[in-house]
Amino acid sequence: MSNENKSIHDFDVNLICEYFSSVVRQGPGSPEVTIKALNFIDNLTNESLIADIGCGTGGQTMVLAQHALGHIAGIDLFPKFIELFNLNAIKLNLQDRVKGVVGSMDNLPFQSEELDLIWSEGAIYNIGFERGLNEWRKFLKTGGYIAVSEASWFTDERPTEIDEFWQNAYSGIDTIPNKVNQMQKTGYIPVAAFILPENCWIEHFYTPQAKAQEIFLKKYEGNKTAEEFIASERHETQLYFKYKEYYGYVFYIGKKI
Ligand code: SAH
Repeated sequence: MSNENKSIHDFDVNLICEYFSSVVRQGPGSPEVTIKALNFIDNLTNESLIADIGCGTGGQTMVLAQHALGHIAGIDLFPKFIELFNLNAIKLNLQDRVKGVVGSMDNLPFQSEELDLIWSEGAIYNIGFERGLNEWRKFLKTGGYIAVSEASWFTDERPTEIDEFWQNAYSGIDTIPNKVNQMQKTGYIPVAAFILPENCWIEHFYTPQAKAQEIFLKKYEGNKTAEEFIASERHETQLYFKYKEYYGYVFYIGKKI
């Protein structure tokens, strides 16, 4: 890769990080859904160790910390997100139990069988659902839980436009029974699977972004990369409203056996 390409790439990542740093959530979700998923987990004590993988700025992590016992390590690839994550923990006086660390989900900084719970909202797609379940399993104690949210098809068939969009964005998207089967195959008892309500996308994800987009476009007026990025975010939003009966996020909860 030439230096020129490298700097353009770095700028893209920085732009995207800046944009998503300005909203509470970097993926669809809500406090209610985090608490609902947590209600399936029954093994936590003050000594428990929880990992929140692909934690972003910690929107869901702080909710988790306020409703679960134990210590939480948030892991994210982007230092800017981790910086904001740790500031958020301090703001909520959770800094003794909640720590953000820069790291990658394909090279996690944990010991074998150290974790009681692995949490990951809207992030496992970066490594792939089945691969993530498989590789992360070794860090969990036997009887420990995994709770991840993941893009899933609601029907066996769907219109070409949305099928092509997702094959391009994340070809690992699959139907709920296939995802549950992958969970079983990778060594977990499937405990629950539930669909995130639409407000997780609309009120908690897309609506806050609409404001952020205006501010961002004003700041980067005339910047082609920024304009193209926002156009693609808006296209994704429109597709959601058009095709939300065919896909959404599903929380999958499993127990290591
Ligand atoms: N869990 C947060 C963020 C979801 S967005 C929420 O629900 O709001 C996906 C997150 O995964 C981003 O914060 C992104 O920086 C992070 N990510 C992407 N690739 C990663 C990797 N290889 N390792 C760790 N985190 C990664």
